[in-house]
Amino acid sequence: MINVAIDGPAGAGKSTVAKAVASRMGLIYLDTGAMYRATAYTALSRGIDVTDEDSVKAMLEDMSMDIAYENGVQQIYVNGVNTTPYLREHRMSKAASDISALPPVRYKMVELQRLFAASHDVVLDGRDIGTFVLPEANCKFYMTATAEERADRRYKELVEKGQQVDRDALLKDIMQRDYNDSHREVAPLKQAEDAEYLDTTNMSIDEVVQHVMRRIREKVDPHPAEAPSEVEAKEENKASKGSDRIKKYYKPLKSYGFYKFMRLILVPVQKLFWPIKLVNPQNAVKGRAIYICNHYSKVDTFLPLVKLFKKEPHILAKSELFEVPISAWFLYHMGAIPVRRGEADIDCVKCVLKLLKDDKQLMMFPEGTRNKQGTQQMAEIKSGAARFAIKTKATVVPMMYYSKPRLFRRNWLYIGEPFTLEQFYGARDVEGRHAATEFIAQKLDETRKALNEYVETLKDKKGKPGKEK
Ligand code: C5P
Repeated sequence: MINVAIDGPAGAGKSTVAKAVASRMGLIYLDTGAMYRATAYTALSRGIDVTDEDSVKAMLEDMSMDIAYENGVQQIYVNGVNTTPYLREHRMSKAASDISALPPVRYKMVELQRLFAASHDVVLDGRDIGTFVLPEANCKFYMTATAEERADRRYKELVEKGQQVDRDALLKDIMQRDYNDSHREVAPLKQAEDAEYLDTTNMSIDEVVQHVMRRIREKVDPHPAEAPSEVEAKEENKASKGSDRIKKYYKPLKSYGFYKFMRLILVPVQKLFWPIKLVNPQNAVKGRAIYICNHYSKVDTFLPLVKLFKKEPHILAKSELFEVPISAWFLYHMGAIPVRRGEADIDCVKCVLKLLKDDKQLMMFPEGTRNKQGTQQMAEIKSGAARFAIKTKATVVPMMYYSKPRLFRRNWLYIGEPFTLEQFYGARDVEGRHAATEFIAQKLDETRKALNEYVETLKDKKGKPGKEK
């Protein structure tokens, strides 16, 4: 899981930056301040003093809080009622600061936040995320700016929303909240030792966003991509609108009637045009499994599918293919799940985890792209397969094509020894995932060697592979 922590005092730009980073990188943004605001709102609307620990504690006992996302915007429901419209009122800021100092409130919120972060790739912003809520977060920032600059920013924000506020009163308020937040007993506001200090006084929002994204890429992906230029950012934006359209494909089909029908055609077509022998079919496992395979051509996607998955196929396919409605329809009915490559595609991850947890099977190409060289040498293995296999404890089945599938050319698809990543279960950090990915790469390499030995045994005196005995 990717967990990014952004802490800092009020008005430092945390939520704006966290939202932008989350939407550009396909992460979920959790505004923890809103959770304290919702608690304060609940107390105020029941006439409870937000500094009275006993009354607040009693209130918490029958208070349930649910976090939902509607059109990508976080909503906080308290006892089934959406409190979101009331949370940014000015009076709620002070009340949230007061109520958040009470230990029972903090413990309840922190528990909810940890639960949320354990099952999602998230960016959390708050006061104590890096120090207390998620001390193991992969990437931490402490974002601040002078109190004057922060008061100016809040002033503009509130005026734009049509609220009337006094700028000096705001400054006083911010200083008071800074004091409250950094002097409270439980988890006060302070920079985590391993957090990067970011003074945003003289930085534009976009500069901060670019910087944070670059850091996350460096930490989470050891081969960082350059931060996108303005043109690329616009492209990304377009793509994310496109991805809204394809969101509906992030759920498995209920019935695979079309697939079964297509198999009736594809199986003989495959036998006739691409005579590929499946070696070691007994290594194919039943139940929860991830089949991984080297990837030469478009054809090699459907061959293992129709050979191995008789009833229900699931395969990852790049999201670009889902942008054309007819191709999207076809792929979806062939069991394909879109994946936005080069980013943490939450919708895809959720869909795959659900499938695997339901004991279904998934096939994927762990290189993430086709091997254009046409040799057995695989490109770098991406960490996706390892993450899925660790998270769901699925069996991994390595497979290897002998050569690029060509029309009427004999070929072999070798199924290697299935394995699990048991020794890496519990590995939540980047190093653990790398080691697991390395392990997968090794298994694929062993499969490649076994395949070559197998084909070697078939060769006749002229060195041409003959028919199986
Ligand atoms: O960030 P925001 O201004 O919405 O937060 C409202 C208040 O909630 C803050 O002033 C702070 O006192 C409290 N808070 C907190 N811990 C967090 C997030 C917010 O104590 N993680």
